[in-house]
Amino acid sequence: MDGCIVSIDQGTTSCRAIVFDKAGKVLGLGQKEFTQHFPQPGWVEHDADEILETQVQCIKDAVSASGVKGDAIKCVGITNQRETTVLWKRNSLKPIHRAIVWQCRRTQEHAEKLKKSSADLFKQKTGLIPDAYFSGPKIKWLLDNVTSKDQLNELAFGTIDSWLIAKLSEDNNHVTDPSNASRTMLFNINDLNWDDELLDLVGVPLHLMPKVVPSNALFGHTNKDLVGFRAPILAVLGDQQAAMYGQACFDPGMFKCTYGTGSFILGNIGHTPQDVHGLLTTIGWQLTGEKPVYALEGATFIAGAAIQWLRDSLGIISSSDEAEGLARSIKSNEGVYFVPAFVGMGSPWWDSSIRGTITGLTRGSGQAHLVRAAIESMAYQIRDIADEIGNSHLKITELRVDGGATKNTFLLEFQSDLLKIPVKRAQQVEATAWGVGALAGITQGLITKSDFENGWECGATHKPQKDREAEYQGWQSALAGASAVAASESLRSKVHVPISRT
Ligand code: ADP
Repeated sequence: MDGCIVSIDQGTTSCRAIVFDKAGKVLGLGQKEFTQHFPQPGWVEHDADEILETQVQCIKDAVSASGVKGDAIKCVGITNQRETTVLWKRNSLKPIHRAIVWQCRRTQEHAEKLKKSSADLFKQKTGLIPDAYFSGPKIKWLLDNVTSKDQLNELAFGTIDSWLIAKLSEDNNHVTDPSNASRTMLFNINDLNWDDELLDLVGVPLHLMPKVVPSNALFGHTNKDLVGFRAPILAVLGDQQAAMYGQACFDPGMFKCTYGTGSFILGNIGHTPQDVHGLLTTIGWQLTGEKPVYALEGATFIAGAAIQWLRDSLGIISSSDEAEGLARSIKSNEGVYFVPAFVGMGSPWWDSSIRGTITGLTRGSGQAHLVRAAIESMAYQIRDIADEIGNSHLKITELRVDGGATKNTFLLEFQSDLLKIPVKRAQQVEATAWGVGALAGITQGLITKSDFENGWECGATHKPQKDREAEYQGWQSALAGASAVAASESLRSKVHVPISRT
């Protein structure tokens, strides 16, 4: 073995580690779920120490399954669930509280206030629309609710990449990369610095923040005593940006969509940030000595999670693999729509008051209708985003797709019909882990960027076959209905944020 790469892929529900060879072949894999904590409705937490222990176990499992010796591991890449917020004590590296997860809505009120007072400022400086989703308000919540003033100087903040590097690196470095920093609402994506005005506005002291270094910097060396080998950590990317890299979206205008718990469409927009209504502008990656590559992002919070909900909460399917057969068992949705707004709606709506609804039920509706409506909802949400992109000067001509739910070919066919463009599933099913692994490998000189780019292979292409406009109109009516319910609810509580594209 002439050199291999370890990718650490720290996700929302599980930790994974993969040993890749230089061509992206999986030599060994370790994966383990960890505990999700839901202390109150709408609140989601992770135990950062449990994440670390689980991650270390996965790294050991992957290396052991691959059969490679420690000295064959030439570099490490880290990709991670984004925005999830950890505060720890600098000296002891002990978290002061469980991590507040990206899905958690506890900071909704604070985020709404920031949106009301300073939406334009945040959009211009960070590319983001203030929302409970991002790290800044989560940090402030921890400072207000868990810490005392005299503790403040001892504390450090990090997203999960920073936390893992602090624990896994020999020197306990406190660093992050621009793709992760750009998800905090505190990082200026134009000058690539933490922004004093925004830190002040959100209420976060600068000294808490990690040092931001390029996405392919030397982040430290892995601690051999902990993971069993010493190798340089040479790439860090947030999970969606890693998938965009893994899908080789290197030219402006190339888009990818990852369908997992949520679904995230990201497009390369080159070296200049651009604003499209309802979408986020974020940093794709920034490499040493180079200008940042910006991405346009549409984020939907509930995609495959709707299928999980049908399985785990309603029990109407026993595995997500049953979903496709059930969807195909009926010729159409027969008017049943599922708006999976369990935590509000993300792009392009950014409406946190809206809640999930199912419409169009009849006595003939059953398991297949609900399952089909859940799958269709993943595709409709991406169509909503694609329409906003289409209304700008940008155009999506094809979509590269990956993620757990892309096993479902019905979803991909339906998506292609709705978008009226080819949908291409990558041959490499591990787009996210291989994306960051490849960046580490390129940085180390194990592989060349052109070999990597040329190695991108399409596993399956789905071309538009059917007109779905009538169905799409049905979705829009269902969404409007869900929005009207939210509006009448919030009229009572007087916190209405209307769903509107204008
Ligand atoms: P994440 O990285 O966000 O944890 P994954 O990429 O592992 O997610 O994908 C898991 C998600 O994909 C789950 O939400 C699951 O419900 C969904 N999923 C898996 N298989 C299917 C399928 N055949 N049809 C629809 N959804 C699926």
